[in-house]
Amino acid sequence: MIGQMMQQPLQVSSLLRHAERHHGEQWVVSRRVEGDIHRYTYRDLARRARQLAKAMGALGVLPGQRVGTLAWNGYRHLELYYAVSGSGAVLHTLNPRLHVDQLVWIAEHAQDQVLCFDKTFLPIVEAVADRLKGVRHFVLMTDREHMPSESAIPHLLCYEELMAAQDDHFEWPALDENTASSLCYTSGTTGNPKGVLYSHRSTLLHTLASALPDSLNLSGRDTILPVVPMFHVNAWGLPYSACMVGAKLVFPGPGLDGKSLYELFESEGVTLSAGVPTVWQGLLSHVQAQGLRFSTMNRTVIGGSACPPSMMEMFEDTYGVQVIHAWGMTELSPIGTVGVLKAEQLAWPKEQRRAALAKQGRSPFGIDMKIIDAQGDELPWDGKSAGDLLVRGAWVVERYFGLDASPLENSWFPTGDVATIDAQGFMNITDRSKDVIKSGGEWIGSIDLENIAMAHPAVAMAACIAARHPKWDERPLLIVTLKPGAELSREAMLNFFEGRIAKWWTPDDVVFVDAIPLGATGKMLKHQLRDKFQNHLLPQG
Ligand code: ADP
Repeated sequence: MIGQMMQQPLQVSSLLRHAERHHGEQWVVSRRVEGDIHRYTYRDLARRARQLAKAMGALGVLPGQRVGTLAWNGYRHLELYYAVSGSGAVLHTLNPRLHVDQLVWIAEHAQDQVLCFDKTFLPIVEAVADRLKGVRHFVLMTDREHMPSESAIPHLLCYEELMAAQDDHFEWPALDENTASSLCYTSGTTGNPKGVLYSHRSTLLHTLASALPDSLNLSGRDTILPVVPMFHVNAWGLPYSACMVGAKLVFPGPGLDGKSLYELFESEGVTLSAGVPTVWQGLLSHVQAQGLRFSTMNRTVIGGSACPPSMMEMFEDTYGVQVIHAWGMTELSPIGTVGVLKAEQLAWPKEQRRAALAKQGRSPFGIDMKIIDAQGDELPWDGKSAGDLLVRGAWVVERYFGLDASPLENSWFPTGDVATIDAQGFMNITDRSKDVIKSGGEWIGSIDLENIAMAHPAVAMAACIAARHPKWDERPLLIVTLKPGAELSREAMLNFFEGRIAKWWTPDDVVFVDAIPLGATGKMLKHQLRDKFQNHLLPQG
């Protein structure tokens, strides 16, 4: 027997329609590339997204075709999110921090027809425009006044002019909910970038799950500032979920330094933010150095790489800001787990609660996970057994864009992460399988070692890699950058591990460097460090 309820396909445009009708007066505030602060409402956003959808149609963009963006977090980028996906085309967010050769490769692989970009990226686009064979139109996301008088790009189009040529009489088409909505490439930290093609259905289900109280806990009373870029897995879904709940949105544009972020947090009354740990380091050092406080921010989502417990403690104890530690991947839209305590855990002593919250957290409904050993057998959820982490769910990739081979293993997606899961269902990443240190046949978790090193007051950043060792095959080598003006000896660093970790996990050596290389999404590039230092422990000469 078939149920007799309405068939309402899950569509990205329905989020915007809801925001316009139910939260039309809510604000979207953006720091623009042009330098000023721009503000308008969800009603304005919806109107302009309809105009833009018509403008894209006028450029000849057909359903299913890809529209690329190279843009900061801002209202024009948000308009593209809705206009492109809403009209049945596919929004492809490119990461401007990638090497230009990789950018060209990705844009060509995705067959982007139109490329919309912020003025910041004009020099990059000018340099590669003739290599982007598939791109028919280049659109500079600005107004006539800010257009360059001349450009190496022939027929460079002006975003605001395209928009102004259209009225907003446009009905969002009814789409099959499995229609592709957006495309995002993995940042290529490990191997070639691969495209993940989200659908309207997967996006909407992820949006619903991400806003739940035990996920990011979003509401219409929030003011959300996504520091995580809209080109990094759709800013973790916040451009969608903010519309769904009717939250005020604040976009930082290109101003991602601690000072600019702090100013916006305070002037706009931001209650929730989200970003990778390296961004918060910059913010915290600014706030500390200036003796500032957060007057409205009460929680922040940290993910993308492991949040050091020392950072969590600083946020919570010194600034009263709750850290929500989340784990995810491009392949998971991205949310896979969120670290929010269960009722029984609230009664635990502080140290035990802290230890639970330092883990990557538990899965919301919609994501199932398991850990397996080398034989493929499932491991117990005892918080000790570590194995390969596999997931499945309605917003998990099934196939990569343009690749035939399925990445799945018996219908589960292998994440490439190694993890434990405890009795409360809290997953803890011990490593990426490629970063695991195998000493005498036993695994050493590099993330644990990095977290300890980063708790030392002199340490700014720490990476632990496997260095080749004549006896043990591999041993941990710690690579450290110090805070400005701080001093630390090798011995003092190594002594700091005493009592904090099993003795045989202690790194064999410490190398102090000026900077640890970061990838396009702010993650440490350990393969580069391995290339440079993997022979460090071998007898030299
Ligand atoms: P890429 O794989 O190209 O770096 P992603 O942004 O999809 O791009 O990265 C996903 C990976 O990032 C995960 O598989 C995991 O290794 C790491 N990661 C994400 N969040 C966390 C976290 N909270 N703790 C530890 N690692 C994390």
